[in-house]
Amino acid sequence: MSAYHTEQKKMLEDFLSRNRDKGFTIDEITEGISSEMSCGVAPARSTVYRLVGRLVAEGRVRKFVKPESRKASYQLVTCEHCDAHLHLKCVECGRLFHMDEAVSDELLDRIRSCSNFSVDEEETVLYGKCAGCNIK
Ligand SMILES: [Zn+2]
Ligand SMILES: [Zn+2]
Repeated sequence: MSAYHTEQKKMLEDFLSRNRDKGFTIDEITEGISSEMSCGVAPARSTVYRLVGRLVAEGRVRKFVKPESRKASYQLVTCEHCDAHLHLKCVECGRLFHMDEAVSDELLDRIRSCSNFSVDEEETVLYGKCAGCNIK
């Protein structure tokens, strides 16, 4: 990877880590980075797309597909054991919650024994409203 791309990848990671409780589409990331930049050249959309893909492959970023729009959004992985529990995603504020591992395992065990279906823990996200958004 060229020095130019290393710098852009860092920019991208910085942006996602400052906004770690939200997910962004490729367009939103591209716009977000260029609006925050005071000098230099903002990465092109195609570059952002490629770099995000690399971060997903490295397991640093997770990809979510919003059920209503089928649009992919991306969010930084903030905990170390994200492959060992389910995630809850609030459709109102966009926050991602890491489900307790014991609760997650129990739920998956129940589904496996009742339906003989093994859920892909890493891929599955439950959508709904978080406590903060429920009281509004
Ligand atoms: Zn997690
Ligand atoms: Zn919420």
